[in-house]
Amino acid sequence: MFKKNNMEVYPVIVPASNKLKSFNFFLVKHKNSLTLIDAGLNTDDCWNALQKTLKKYDYTLTDLTGIYLTHHHTDHIGLVNRILSTHSIPVYAHPYAILVLKRDTEYIKMRVEFFRKLYQEMGCGENGEKHVTDLRNPIILDEDKKIHCEIQDMNDHPFWGFDLLEIPGHSPDQVAFYNKECKWLFSGDLVIENIPSNAFVEPDFNGVRTKSLVQQKLSLEKCLSLNVELIFSGHGNIIENPADLLKERIKEIDEKANKYQNTIKSGKSTASGIAQFLYKE
Ligand SMILES: [Zn+2]
Repeated sequence: MFKKNNMEVYPVIVPASNKLKSFNFFLVKHKNSLTLIDAGLNTDDCWNALQKTLKKYDYTLTDLTGIYLTHHHTDHIGLVNRILSTHSIPVYAHPYAILVLKRDTEYIKMRVEFFRKLYQEMGCGENGEKHVTDLRNPIILDEDKKIHCEIQDMNDHPFWGFDLLEIPGHSPDQVAFYNKECKWLFSGDLVIENIPSNAFVEPDFNGVRTKSLVQQKLSLEKCLSLNVELIFSGHGNIIENPADLLKERIKEIDEKANKYQNTIKSGKSTASGIAQFLYKE
Protein backbone atom coordinates (compact mmCIF):
# COMPACT_ATOMS: atom_id res chain seq x y z
CA MET A 1 0.00 0.00 0.00
CA PHE A 2 1.22 3.51 -0.79
CA LYS A 3 0.04 6.44 1.29
CA LYS A 4 0.72 10.16 0.99
CA ASN A 5 -1.30 13.39 1.39
CA ASN A 6 -4.69 11.75 2.08
CA MET A 7 -4.22 9.51 -0.91
CA GLU A 8 -3.85 5.74 -0.75
CA VAL A 9 -3.00 3.33 -3.54
CA TYR A 10 -3.65 -0.40 -3.30
CA PRO A 11 -1.93 -2.15 -6.22
CA VAL A 12 -3.51 -5.28 -7.66
CA ILE A 13 -0.59 -7.30 -9.03
CA VAL A 14 -1.38 -10.46 -10.97
CA PRO A 15 1.60 -12.62 -12.01
CA ALA A 16 2.01 -13.23 -15.74
CA SER A 17 3.74 -16.24 -17.24
CA ASN A 18 5.29 -14.15 -20.03
CA LYS A 19 7.95 -11.43 -20.14
CA LEU A 20 5.47 -8.80 -18.95
CA LYS A 21 6.00 -10.33 -15.49
CA SER A 22 2.62 -9.17 -14.14
CA PHE A 23 -0.64 -7.44 -14.96
CA ASN A 24 -1.08 -4.45 -12.69
CA PHE A 25 -4.06 -2.27 -11.93
CA PHE A 26 -4.67 0.06 -9.05
CA LEU A 27 -7.23 1.06 -6.46
CA VAL A 28 -6.94 4.71 -5.49
CA LYS A 29 -8.62 5.82 -2.28
CA HIS A 30 -9.22 9.51 -1.77
CA LYS A 31 -11.83 10.92 0.63
CA ASN A 32 -15.10 9.21 -0.33
CA SER A 33 -13.96 7.81 -3.62
CA LEU A 34 -12.42 4.47 -4.44
CA THR A 35 -11.33 4.55 -8.05
CA LEU A 36 -9.96 1.73 -10.15
CA ILE A 37 -7.24 2.66 -12.64
CA ASP A 38 -7.35 0.01 -15.37
CA ALA A 39 -9.02 -3.36 -14.99
CA GLY A 40 -6.55 -6.13 -15.86
CA LEU A 41 -7.38 -9.10 -18.05
CA ASN A 42 -10.76 -10.80 -18.14
CA THR A 43 -9.52 -13.82 -16.18
CA ASP A 44 -10.41 -15.43 -12.87
CA ASP A 45 -6.87 -14.68 -11.65
CA CYS A 46 -7.41 -10.95 -12.12
CA TRP A 47 -10.94 -11.11 -10.73
CA ASN A 48 -9.81 -12.96 -7.59
CA ALA A 49 -6.83 -10.66 -7.10
CA LEU A 50 -9.11 -7.63 -7.24
CA GLN A 51 -11.50 -9.11 -4.69
CA LYS A 52 -8.63 -10.14 -2.42
CA THR A 53 -7.08 -6.66 -2.51
CA LEU A 54 -10.42 -5.02 -1.77
CA LYS A 55 -10.99 -7.37 1.15
CA LYS A 56 -7.51 -6.77 2.56
CA TYR A 57 -8.39 -3.08 3.01
CA ASP A 58 -11.96 -3.74 4.20
CA TYR A 59 -13.75 -2.91 0.98
CA THR A 60 -15.99 -4.80 -1.38
CA LEU A 61 -16.77 -4.36 -5.06
CA THR A 62 -19.76 -2.17 -4.24
CA ASP A 63 -17.42 0.43 -2.69
CA LEU A 64 -15.88 1.15 -6.09
CA THR A 65 -16.97 4.57 -7.32
CA GLY A 66 -15.49 4.68 -10.85
CA ILE A 67 -13.04 3.26 -13.37
CA TYR A 68 -10.47 5.23 -15.38
CA LEU A 69 -8.70 3.47 -18.26
CA THR A 70 -5.14 4.36 -19.36
CA HIS A 71 -5.66 2.80 -22.82
CA HIS A 72 -7.88 0.34 -24.63
CA HIS A 73 -5.66 -2.78 -24.74
CA THR A 74 -7.24 -6.06 -23.65
CA ASP A 75 -4.98 -6.47 -20.61
CA HIS A 76 -6.15 -3.14 -19.16
CA ILE A 77 -9.91 -3.31 -19.64
CA GLY A 78 -10.62 -7.00 -18.94
CA LEU A 79 -12.77 -6.81 -15.82
CA VAL A 80 -14.88 -3.78 -16.73
CA ASN A 81 -17.91 -5.82 -17.84
CA ARG A 82 -17.69 -8.15 -14.81
CA ILE A 83 -17.46 -5.25 -12.37
CA LEU A 84 -20.33 -3.40 -14.03
CA SER A 85 -22.48 -6.52 -13.89
CA THR A 86 -22.34 -6.34 -10.08
CA HIS A 87 -23.19 -2.66 -9.80
CA SER A 88 -23.27 0.32 -12.08
CA ILE A 89 -20.42 2.83 -11.82
CA PRO A 90 -19.08 5.33 -14.34
CA VAL A 91 -16.28 4.26 -16.70
CA TYR A 92 -14.02 6.91 -18.21
CA ALA A 93 -11.72 6.63 -21.21
CA HIS A 94 -10.07 8.63 -23.97
CA PRO A 95 -12.44 9.32 -26.93
CA TYR A 96 -10.34 7.07 -29.19
CA ALA A 97 -10.59 4.22 -26.69
CA ILE A 98 -14.36 4.65 -26.58
CA LEU A 99 -14.57 4.00 -30.35
CA VAL A 100 -12.52 0.83 -29.99
CA LEU A 101 -14.18 -0.47 -26.85
CA LYS A 102 -17.69 0.11 -28.20
CA ARG A 103 -16.61 -1.62 -31.45
CA ASP A 104 -17.75 1.35 -33.54
CA THR A 105 -18.52 -0.06 -37.00
CA GLU A 106 -17.07 2.89 -38.93
CA TYR A 107 -13.90 2.76 -36.86
CA ILE A 108 -13.45 -0.99 -37.44
CA LYS A 109 -13.90 -0.58 -41.19
CA MET A 110 -11.47 2.32 -41.23
CA ARG A 111 -8.83 0.36 -39.26
CA VAL A 112 -9.04 -2.74 -41.46
CA GLU A 113 -8.78 -0.58 -44.58
CA PHE A 114 -5.84 1.29 -43.03
CA PHE A 115 -3.86 -1.92 -42.51
CA ARG A 116 -4.86 -3.35 -45.89
CA LYS A 117 -3.40 -0.31 -47.67
CA LEU A 118 -0.39 -0.07 -45.38
CA TYR A 119 0.64 -3.70 -45.87
CA GLN A 120 0.19 -3.33 -49.61
CA GLU A 121 2.34 -0.18 -49.73
CA MET A 122 4.98 -1.82 -47.57
CA GLY A 123 5.23 -4.91 -49.76
CA CYS A 124 4.06 -7.38 -47.12
CA GLY A 125 2.51 -9.73 -49.68
CA GLU A 126 0.64 -12.80 -48.45
CA ASN A 127 1.62 -12.24 -44.80
CA GLY A 128 0.03 -8.80 -44.91
CA GLU A 129 -3.16 -10.14 -46.47
CA LYS A 130 -3.35 -12.87 -43.85
CA HIS A 131 -3.01 -10.33 -41.05
CA VAL A 132 -5.82 -8.21 -42.51
CA THR A 133 -8.10 -11.26 -42.52
CA ASP A 134 -7.06 -12.02 -38.93
CA LEU A 135 -7.88 -8.44 -37.98
CA ARG A 136 -11.27 -8.39 -39.63
CA ASN A 137 -12.76 -11.41 -37.88
CA PRO A 138 -11.81 -11.15 -34.21
CA ILE A 139 -12.40 -7.40 -34.05
CA ILE A 140 -15.99 -7.90 -35.05
CA LEU A 141 -16.65 -11.20 -33.32
CA ASP A 142 -14.83 -10.75 -30.00
CA GLU A 143 -17.92 -9.87 -28.00
CA ASP A 144 -16.23 -10.39 -24.63
CA LYS A 145 -13.72 -7.67 -25.44
CA LYS A 146 -16.48 -5.17 -26.16
CA ILE A 147 -17.50 -2.95 -23.27
CA HIS A 148 -21.24 -3.15 -22.84
CA CYS A 149 -21.84 -0.18 -20.56
CA GLU A 150 -21.72 3.49 -21.44
CA ILE A 151 -18.17 4.91 -21.44
CA GLN A 152 -17.68 8.59 -20.79
CA ASP A 153 -15.03 10.91 -22.20
CA MET A 154 -12.48 11.46 -19.42
CA ASN A 155 -11.78 14.97 -20.71
CA ASP A 156 -15.27 15.93 -19.47
CA HIS A 157 -14.81 14.15 -16.13
CA PRO A 158 -11.37 14.87 -14.67
CA PHE A 159 -10.01 12.40 -12.15
CA TRP A 160 -10.00 14.41 -8.93
CA GLY A 161 -6.47 15.34 -7.79
CA PHE A 162 -4.84 14.15 -10.98
CA ASP A 163 -3.68 15.92 -14.14
CA LEU A 164 -4.58 14.11 -17.31
CA LEU A 165 -1.61 13.76 -19.68
CA GLU A 166 -1.84 12.42 -23.21
CA ILE A 167 1.07 10.01 -23.74
CA PRO A 168 0.47 8.33 -27.11
CA GLY A 169 2.94 5.91 -28.71
CA HIS A 170 2.16 2.51 -27.22
CA SER A 171 -1.41 3.23 -28.32
CA PRO A 172 -2.99 6.40 -29.77
CA ASP A 173 -5.30 6.80 -26.75
CA GLN A 174 -2.81 6.20 -23.97
CA VAL A 175 -3.04 8.65 -21.08
CA ALA A 176 -1.33 9.11 -17.73
CA PHE A 177 -2.78 10.37 -14.46
CA TYR A 178 -0.37 12.55 -12.53
CA ASN A 179 -0.69 13.70 -8.93
CA LYS A 180 1.64 16.68 -8.53
CA GLU A 181 1.63 16.74 -4.73
CA CYS A 182 2.61 13.09 -4.36
CA LYS A 183 4.67 13.06 -7.60
CA TRP A 184 2.89 9.84 -8.51
CA LEU A 185 2.26 8.85 -12.10
CA PHE A 186 -0.07 6.16 -13.42
CA SER A 187 1.12 5.74 -16.99
CA GLY A 188 -0.27 2.46 -18.36
CA ASP A 189 2.36 0.84 -20.56
CA LEU A 190 4.48 3.90 -21.33
CA VAL A 191 7.34 2.53 -19.29
CA ILE A 192 7.81 -0.98 -17.95
CA GLU A 193 10.82 -1.72 -15.76
CA ASN A 194 11.84 -5.11 -17.13
CA ILE A 195 11.22 -4.64 -20.89
CA PRO A 196 10.96 -1.76 -23.37
CA SER A 197 7.33 -1.02 -24.24
CA ASN A 198 6.35 -1.31 -27.92
CA ALA A 199 5.18 1.61 -30.03
CA PHE A 200 2.46 0.08 -32.21
CA VAL A 201 1.47 1.17 -35.71
CA GLU A 202 -2.11 2.45 -35.54
CA PRO A 203 -4.27 4.91 -37.48
CA ASP A 204 -5.54 8.09 -35.84
CA PHE A 205 -9.24 9.11 -35.86
CA ASN A 206 -8.98 10.03 -39.53
CA GLY A 207 -7.27 6.85 -40.67
CA VAL A 208 -3.87 8.55 -40.93
CA ARG A 209 -0.85 6.64 -39.64
CA THR A 210 0.42 7.98 -36.33
CA LYS A 211 4.17 8.40 -35.92
CA SER A 212 4.04 6.14 -32.92
CA LEU A 213 7.76 5.76 -32.25
CA VAL A 214 8.23 9.56 -32.31
CA GLN A 215 5.16 9.94 -30.10
CA GLN A 216 6.53 7.35 -27.70
CA LYS A 217 9.78 9.31 -27.37
CA LEU A 218 7.92 12.61 -26.80
CA SER A 219 5.71 10.95 -24.19
CA LEU A 220 8.74 9.58 -22.33
CA GLU A 221 10.34 13.05 -22.43
CA LYS A 222 7.13 14.59 -21.11
CA CYS A 223 7.20 12.22 -18.12
CA LEU A 224 10.91 12.77 -17.55
CA SER A 225 10.25 16.53 -17.24
CA LEU A 226 7.85 15.96 -14.33
CA ASN A 227 10.43 14.66 -11.83
CA VAL A 228 8.15 11.81 -10.87
CA GLU A 229 8.95 9.84 -7.72
CA LEU A 230 6.83 6.76 -8.41
CA ILE A 231 5.50 5.26 -11.60
CA PHE A 232 2.62 2.85 -11.19
CA SER A 233 3.29 0.79 -14.29
CA GLY A 234 0.83 -1.50 -16.08
CA HIS A 235 3.29 -4.41 -15.83
CA GLY A 236 6.24 -5.47 -13.69
CA ASN A 237 7.49 -3.55 -10.67
CA ILE A 238 6.28 -0.19 -9.46
CA ILE A 239 9.16 2.08 -10.43
CA GLU A 240 10.83 4.34 -7.86
CA ASN A 241 12.74 7.41 -9.07
CA PRO A 242 12.28 6.50 -12.72
CA ALA A 243 14.44 9.26 -14.30
CA ASP A 244 17.35 6.97 -15.26
CA LEU A 245 15.03 4.33 -16.69
CA LEU A 246 13.14 6.96 -18.71
CA LYS A 247 16.46 8.25 -20.11
CA GLU A 248 17.49 4.69 -20.97
CA ARG A 249 14.19 4.09 -22.82
CA ILE A 250 14.60 7.34 -24.78
CA LYS A 251 18.15 6.31 -25.74
CA GLU A 252 16.88 2.90 -26.90
CA ILE A 253 14.38 4.59 -29.21
CA ASP A 254 17.14 6.66 -30.81
CA GLU A 255 19.24 3.52 -31.25
CA LYS A 256 16.30 1.71 -32.79
CA ALA A 257 15.66 4.58 -35.22
CA ASN A 258 19.36 4.57 -36.21
CA LYS A 259 19.31 0.83 -36.79
CA TYR A 260 16.32 1.20 -39.12
CA GLN A 261 17.86 4.14 -40.93
CA ASN A 262 21.06 2.17 -41.57
CA THR A 263 19.05 -0.79 -42.83
CA ILE A 264 17.28 1.51 -45.29
CA LYS A 265 20.64 2.99 -46.38
CA SER A 266 21.94 -0.54 -46.98
CA GLY A 267 19.28 -0.98 -49.64
CA LYS A 268 16.26 -2.53 -47.93
CA SER A 269 13.49 -0.39 -49.35
CA THR A 270 10.23 -1.86 -48.03
CA ALA A 271 8.99 -2.48 -44.49
CA SER A 272 8.73 -6.14 -45.38
CA GLY A 273 12.39 -6.18 -46.49
CA ILE A 274 13.50 -4.40 -43.31
CA ALA A 275 11.47 -6.69 -41.06
CA GLN A 276 12.84 -9.83 -42.69
CA PHE A 277 16.40 -8.50 -42.49
CA LEU A 278 16.17 -7.50 -38.81
CA TYR A 279 13.78 -10.09 -37.41
CA LYS A 280 14.26 -13.00 -39.86
CA GLU A 281 10.87 -14.72 -39.54
ZN1 LIG B 1 -0.43 -3.78 -21.06
